[in-house]
Amino acid sequence: MIIRVDKCSTFGIKKALTKSTQYLPKLLINKQLIPKINIGEAFQYLGKYFSFNMPDEHHKSELISLVEELMADIDSKPIHPKNKILLYTVDIFCQDYPGILQFLAYRKRGSPKTLIPKSTVNYIRKWLDIPISGTLSIVFLTRNKFGLSICPPSVKFIQCQTVLRKALKTSPNEAINDLWKATSNSKYIQYDVYNSTKRVLKDFCSGQEGKLHTQLTCQGSFFINITKFSLSQLTKIWSACQSNLPKNIFNFTVRYINNSLPTRQKLARWGLSPTSDCSRCLAPETPLHVVAGCQSYLERFTWRHDSVLNFLAISLQTVSGSHLYVDLPGYKSPSIITGDNYRPDFLLSTSTGTLYIVELTVGFESNLQKNVERKQSKYKELIREQNEHFNSVKFVNLSISSLGVFSKECCTLIEMLNDFGFQKQHQNYCIRRMTTIAIRTTYYIFCCRNKEWMNPELLTV
Ligand SMILES: [Zn+2]
Repeated sequence: MIIRVDKCSTFGIKKALTKSTQYLPKLLINKQLIPKINIGEAFQYLGKYFSFNMPDEHHKSELISLVEELMADIDSKPIHPKNKILLYTVDIFCQDYPGILQFLAYRKRGSPKTLIPKSTVNYIRKWLDIPISGTLSIVFLTRNKFGLSICPPSVKFIQCQTVLRKALKTSPNEAINDLWKATSNSKYIQYDVYNSTKRVLKDFCSGQEGKLHTQLTCQGSFFINITKFSLSQLTKIWSACQSNLPKNIFNFTVRYINNSLPTRQKLARWGLSPTSDCSRCLAPETPLHVVAGCQSYLERFTWRHDSVLNFLAISLQTVSGSHLYVDLPGYKSPSIITGDNYRPDFLLSTSTGTLYIVELTVGFESNLQKNVERKQSKYKELIREQNEHFNSVKFVNLSISSLGVFSKECCTLIEMLNDFGFQKQHQNYCIRRMTTIAIRTTYYIFCCRNKEWMNPELLTV
């Protein structure tokens, strides 16, 4: 066997009195001196660096440059932000990263946050157009909570540490168990508290939710409203609609939920607008004001409302043996049945003598429930009146938000579609379309703020 002495190295530690010190050993093979590792320097073995002080610097810099390289690579790709996030999740966490993290996790003192390059989070902000002042709490949440299920590296780090600690603890090798025991008393080992990686993620998400509830007033109240009053069985459909949107509208929805849209109120705060007021009515220009509040934008909101209504009317036109009355041009007017006192959006009388009264409201998220209650009391009398003429009267109180989130009360729509024999798939198709129309029209309304309104045709998707 030929030994390549130049490929070998020696590293020496000796005990001098009570202290250990590094020294330079003199070892010869075939009269050749084996290269020495100098005092304070490290050697690499099986991908890990070893030195006298065992600092984390080498791993840290290796980790940082690896992550930087990957993030810059993903960033340069001309793809949809949702795919960048997907690449980030797959690339970063499936390459060498976890191995390095695990090693660090075993040794690292202090917070994992100090180890993770900050640029990771900055890239996520960049892809989603979230300004530096905007919180990422919501995008870190899972998709069934209107988030994007983005896992920050610090959470992955804790998960790695949890896996590693558990492997030591449950190893069939007793010596390894002893190693776990010996190190578990150390104040540096922080993550013996978690039993599973799922728990780590769950704790992180509930922490973000807690933050929304207690610290972030504006985003918090928005978030509470949509999670509390929305029909949770439809959140999955909403999330699917969101991810099918083109980049600009996708990012618009993220910033909308995040409360970081560039309204005048925000721009003024960032020093980018001389005024924080709406150009039409001089009220503060907030997201609510632009997409659902301003009294001089009413025809825009009606356009959105009618676009959604129009889709529903087209979908229900085919219900056999029924008569349709819609408060839109081209249809018979609902006042034929209800008189002029009430003008619900939509009436459908069936061959079995049932009258469906459908009232659609598209409003800001914080009014999701209020709109339900308002319409309930408004149409109470009409429902009572019509009960005298029909075998039964069903009120479909359809309150959806500007971003197409359906309120709990929208279960009455699902019931109606069931009554008409719509299959589950067809029902989901209708919900998807209505959500998409709401999002796209709201986006358009937002883009036209402080500009002329050109009375576009009803939006169909
Ligand atoms: Zn206004």
